[in-house]
Amino acid sequence: MTPNECTPTIDLPKSLDQLTTQEIERKACIGRIATYTLCSLTSTYVNQGFQWLLPVVLSQSTDPLWPDPSASIEKRLEVDIYGKPVRTMASMIVHKLIAASTAYPKLFILSPNVRLEKSERGKTGKHIYEFTQLDFEAKDATSKDVFSLVETVLCTLVKDLKKNMKDDLTTICRFDAIPTIEGPFKIFDREDLEAKYGATWETDIIAEITQPVWITNIPREFYDFEDFSTGRWDNYDLFMPQFGEILSGSKREYEYDKITEKIERDGVRKENFALIIKMAKEGRLKPTAGAGIGIERLIGYLTGVKHIAECQPFPRVPGIVHEL
Ligand code: ASP
Ligand code: MG
Repeated sequence: MTPNECTPTIDLPKSLDQLTTQEIERKACIGRIATYTLCSLTSTYVNQGFQWLLPVVLSQSTDPLWPDPSASIEKRLEVDIYGKPVRTMASMIVHKLIAASTAYPKLFILSPNVRLEKSERGKTGKHIYEFTQLDFEAKDATSKDVFSLVETVLCTLVKDLKKNMKDDLTTICRFDAIPTIEGPFKIFDREDLEAKYGATWETDIIAEITQPVWITNIPREFYDFEDFSTGRWDNYDLFMPQFGEILSGSKREYEYDKITEKIERDGVRKENFALIIKMAKEGRLKPTAGAGIGIERLIGYLTGVKHIAECQPFPRVPGIVHEL
């Protein structure tokens, strides 16, 4: 490809059958970087002693995605199977908490998630209605443990990618554009950023940083740990320079009283979380911490695409349904 062909030209990602020869070449190149990324991530988790679980897609319990200041869900999918209502997976958060509390103290899953974002999010370039997260959880872990694990995972990935995928990164003009990263990443409190930048803090901070940063203390779903005495949340997002969020997670709630109080406070349907509530009541839910890495967002950051659906073989742009 010539240098000016490096600039992504696809505004709204097209279906495979609609691509020109040159766009097919670019798609294949992104595909090789995606394959390398998946191998690197899964190897690091396995090397760190994590067990690799396979995902489930239909379940009575899934992520309520509420309250979450950044959620924008058009429709929730619910269907009856064998006489029981199940939902398509929004995230395997409940499964992770129960699995990490019992048979799998350190686990990860490449988990397909369906979140039917509103059509107006089709053009943000950062939202897709089906995505995959590398969702992980560890028993007795703290936020600090998660930070250093993710720093190892991502620093290893970027270092090895630049070493072993130089040709493909150069083809899409990303070799020099991706900075080598080094932990520990800086940590910012969301409240301080709001005080400094106001409502536009997310776009302001990513324009300023040259290394990934952790953002902590974000009010959201009941399963993220909230210190009732201070009102502070022990949770986090990871923001990449010029790009934005690629991961969110937290230390978790595991105590019955706090979980039920938060579910009631948030108006979340208790009947969808009967098992986790029961296990908490019996003291069988254990302290854990974890997070999910948005795979298409991570690959989107690495490849510099205009729309993360360009990293999907079968694009899932909100509002656009292709045959495949
Ligand atoms: N995977 C996230 C977590 O571990 C939940 C989410 O998908 O928002 O907290
Ligand atoms: Mg969440």
